[in-house]
Amino acid sequence: MSSGPIPVLHSIESLRAYLDAAREHGKSIGCVMTMGALHAGHASLIDAAAAAHDEVVVTVFVNPTQFGPNEDLAAYPRTLDDDVALAAHHSATVVFTPTVEEMYPGGIGTSHTTVHVARVSERLCGASRPGHFDGVSTVVTKLLNIIGPCTAYFGKKDAQQLAVIRALVTDLDLRVEVIACPILRESDGLALSSRNRYLDPEERRAAAGISRALFECADRIGAGQRDAPSLRAALVAALDAIPGGRLDYAEFVDARTFQPIDSIQSDSVLAVAVHFGGARLIDNIHIGVQGSTVDIDRGRFLPAQEP
Ligand code: AMP
Repeated sequence: MSSGPIPVLHSIESLRAYLDAAREHGKSIGCVMTMGALHAGHASLIDAAAAAHDEVVVTVFVNPTQFGPNEDLAAYPRTLDDDVALAAHHSATVVFTPTVEEMYPGGIGTSHTTVHVARVSERLCGASRPGHFDGVSTVVTKLLNIIGPCTAYFGKKDAQQLAVIRALVTDLDLRVEVIACPILRESDGLALSSRNRYLDPEERRAAAGISRALFECADRIGAGQRDAPSLRAALVAALDAIPGGRLDYAEFVDARTFQPIDSIQSDSVLAVAVHFGGARLIDNIHIGVQGSTVDIDRGRFLPAQEP
């Protein structure tokens, strides 16, 4: 870990010059893309990148094109100074934080090209948030083209986003290796998210019910149940019972294609989204089944805070 000052670059040209020079010196590049308001979940991605690469670029960009008209773009937390300090503390070597004008010169909606990842992006969050994944795919493609060949670290927290990015990297032959990092959770199981700060204390307590419901479902699978419709019915009942929560979706899908499955299979994701007041929280569990062996990926847990 280090906490010395690191460059904070705003222009595409300056980041390209910085990374081209690094590559000329034989350095390897890791990158972590974020919307800022960094927390320990982001830090775990930066740690993974820093353990394997000489240069670690953290991008901080609240991308307007992935927000719907009634979503929280204006309210989304912006904490750049803290983000740079956290990134530096976790051994990032450069922060790239472009303006909207730098990323979309001429204004949003004026460019001719959108990256659309068919099928993988269309259900779950894609259905609840029309246009969201086109915004994500397009900005991620732009950022990967700006950064150039690199290893990119993404959280399994956003499992559908991960599947979408894997698909676009493969389909567009990008010179990028994608690494998936475990979900980091609070000690009570709530997945860390920049949006958790929207929760009031009561909602925050209740929100731990999301992961509890997922873990109970995973335990049933561990005990041998495989039938997705009956597992889903129990999961939905548990999620519906969370005080103050409003279920958006609970689906069982293939981890790579994000198409629905009838029976838990080798590479499955149980993915959920629940509204609490103004916050929409997502979570998931990845389940791998091979023969009689069931691998349940609950993620990593932060230690409990001292009272
Ligand atoms: P965001 O800033 O929310 O767009 O997230 C940036 C990256 O951090 C994405 O790859 C997320 O999947 C990842 N991330 C966010 N929260 C977590 C978490 N709790 N555990 C692991 N990765 C996370």
